Amino acid sequence: MKFDTKVVRAGIRPDPVTGSIVPPIYETATYVLPEIGKDKGFDYTRSSNPTRQIMEENLAAIEGGKYGIAFASGMSAVDACTKLLRAGDHLVCSDDVYGGVSRHFNNVLVDYGLTFSYVNSSDPDEVRAAIKPETKMLWIETPTNPLLKITDVEAMSKIAKDHGLVFGVDSTFATPVFLRPLEYGADIVMHSTTKYLSGHNQIIGGIVITNREDIFDKMKFIQKTIGAVPSPFDCWLTLLGVKTLHLRMQRHASTGHKVAEFLENHEKVARATYPGLTSHPQYDIAKRQMSGFSGMISFELKGGIPAGKALMNNVKLCALAESLGAVETMITHPATMTHVDVPAAERNARGLTDGLVRLSVGIEDPEDIISDLEQALTRA
Ligand code: PLP
Repeated sequence: MKFDTKVVRAGIRPDPVTGSIVPPIYETATYVLPEIGKDKGFDYTRSSNPTRQIMEENLAAIEGGKYGIAFASGMSAVDACTKLLRAGDHLVCSDDVYGGVSRHFNNVLVDYGLTFSYVNSSDPDEVRAAIKPETKMLWIETPTNPLLKITDVEAMSKIAKDHGLVFGVDSTFATPVFLRPLEYGADIVMHSTTKYLSGHNQIIGGIVITNREDIFDKMKFIQKTIGAVPSPFDCWLTLLGVKTLHLRMQRHASTGHKVAEFLENHEKVARATYPGLTSHPQYDIAKRQMSGFSGMISFELKGGIPAGKALMNNVKLCALAESLGAVETMITHPATMTHVDVPAAERNARGLTDGLVRLSVGIEDPEDIISDLEQALTRA
């Protein structure tokens, strides 16, 4: 199957009982066994569920992977990946990751004997220099949240292989439409399915995709043992959302580009960051490894924090909201919202200033999005 066909059809077969073209929502906790020691492939929904299994197969196929393991949130998917580590192990991580990820590493996992180094993963030398004898995992986001830094996935795979590290990529911002990290040698691809994959601001979910059987076995074990699983209904909504992923992403990207150009050229904007702008510091890498640049933009106004706040308080169409990657355009203030738990000194050191604004461009008419920003900018 070609990519667009996989998005709509992979893993999805007519329901064996009724022929329903849409997979049913198997909203059940358990399954009746025909006799002791026999089941029909399912025994308890924490371990597996037919609706969830279809979603896992669909997402794995789209990502070009063999195995998909679903979790109740992007965060529980990240957490499951770190359970490949043991006390004493060290993880090298991109310095500009979603604030919930660094909060989990720095405030929870450190108490279990793991240690972390944050590096600018756009620079392979920095990554290499951070590796210690006890390093076991390399974890990157590309593009990063919220500064949209790009990391060369192939270069990271090579470093990880040279040092025997498990290499994981949080590819939530790129989606498999624009980047498929397994093709560049990643061991794990992880998504917050809350975002573009489901795409409609309806569910919270996460997925881990891998080609490695050893990682799949461990992830399956973690999934059934800890039970941070999505509900069958949420899996069904995700499947519904995914059906238009390729179409939505093209629109997110084309409008994203227009909005980024508008912001970059606006007199009140100090800098606009979008991987598809030639002014982006890693534009060449983005262009080489991605087939499109998604709909995420971050920018700073010349008037700093007060201007940024005035802008965000005056938008009408853009929703001032915490999430991203859905059909509605959403605007966020990372310093007080998504990244509030990153200490201020750390935020500033990595360029995540208090004046930074993050925009998740939706699929409304581009002119409406731009004119909403325009009117809010006159008040900023
Ligand atoms: N990874 C990235 C890049 C994110 O932006 C987020 C949430 O914003 C997460 C992971 C966590 O996902 P969730 O909110 O589904 O737990």
